[in-house]
Amino acid sequence: MTFKSLGLSDALVKAVRKKGYTEPSTIQEKAIPLILEGKDVLASAQTGTGKTAGFTLPMLQILSQQSKWKRRPIRALILTPTRELAAQVYTNIREYSEFLDIRSAVVFGGVKAKPQIATLRNGVDILVATPGRLLDLQNQKALSLARIEILVLDEADRMLDMGFLRDIKKILALMPVKRQNLLFSATFSKEIKNLAGSFLHHPVLVEATPEYLTAEKVNQKAYRVDKNKKTALVIHLINEGNWEQVLVFTRTKHGANKLCKKMIGSGITAAAIHGNKSQTARTKALAGFKKGEVRVLVATDIAARGLDIPLLPHVVNFELPNVPEDYVHRIGRTGRAGASGEAISLVSTEEKNYLKDIEKLLDQSLDTEIVKGFEPDTSTPTQANTNRSQTKNSKRKTGKKKFYGGSKRKSSNNYKK
Ligand code: AMP
Repeated sequence: MTFKSLGLSDALVKAVRKKGYTEPSTIQEKAIPLILEGKDVLASAQTGTGKTAGFTLPMLQILSQQSKWKRRPIRALILTPTRELAAQVYTNIREYSEFLDIRSAVVFGGVKAKPQIATLRNGVDILVATPGRLLDLQNQKALSLARIEILVLDEADRMLDMGFLRDIKKILALMPVKRQNLLFSATFSKEIKNLAGSFLHHPVLVEATPEYLTAEKVNQKAYRVDKNKKTALVIHLINEGNWEQVLVFTRTKHGANKLCKKMIGSGITAAAIHGNKSQTARTKALAGFKKGEVRVLVATDIAARGLDIPLLPHVVNFELPNVPEDYVHRIGRTGRAGASGEAISLVSTEEKNYLKDIEKLLDQSLDTEIVKGFEPDTSTPTQANTNRSQTKNSKRKTGKKKFYGGSKRKSSNNYKK
């Protein structure tokens, strides 16, 4: 399968080639022809599947085929939950539209509105936005959504998690009824299905298997440790293993800050990235991390969602997420594109049920070890302590077909070439 055979124009094929993509990913293969046909699409896809190109390439093609406007109205809107994702989607659009006469812009909170208003005044075809700032700008009459032809909700599940449902509904009411709608979500809760039902017209469902995520490529391990020894253990692991570029997940913003300070205190360059950090601070932290100047990036799930950090060698779950799917998203940050990676989870007694849920979702038991010098206090024994060591390397086969196919999924990957 080639990008050309999916019906994309030469200008887009050229841009894609320039990015180094040799063939479309599964989601691109499935979604691009449907979107080009004008269909509403409900897509199950997460970061790493190539979903962004899956919706932006056909969108660019549709918009560039239409007649030229004197004053460009916004014809396509992409809503994203976080500023980082908005910025990333925008960067991709800029790259893919290099050989087209298409103007795009991005707006999100945490930075001054004035330059955004000035850009919008010049006319843009595609706007990437987070819901809050979009509504602010709309209230100030800095933009109009009355000419929207294509709407994309990217990472819709995360938008609902972050409480954007009301904003989304307000935004939907500002657009013409007749338009093409695309909804991308990693998970499909009842709420997502309700939302999809409320605005998609006869949507076609497309699914992308997270092909980058295979148990073969991600070496997953759990260390049993008491809560109060976790900081010392993670610092020990980073130092002992000489780890560079480590992404550490904490459950809370406060926890991220605290851990980051401790790391810095022990001589490890670290930065925290979460919702309370200013946009400038987040961008700076991410850039430093990508360049290798910052060794450890401590992040919360929401802040990390959608971040494009390729080929991370180490991901650490300082705390396990209480939503098992988040574990899959987190470890999807490592072992991408054919490279091997390591995902370490620090599991305290309190978290044993989270671990069980994760193992159930993965359909696989995680290797569990104890690091010498960091043994859990045995005066509070847990069932997990006794069970897990016996299940080392064993894989529970339940026969159930899981979305995240674990080790049973084929290990081939679209981006490996
Ligand atoms: P996404 O899932 O949209 O966040 O994309 C994840 C990463 O895959 C990004 O770094 C993209 O640039 C890259 N990517 C998207 N499509 C392809 C493709 N067909 N071949 C290789 N890499 C791709």
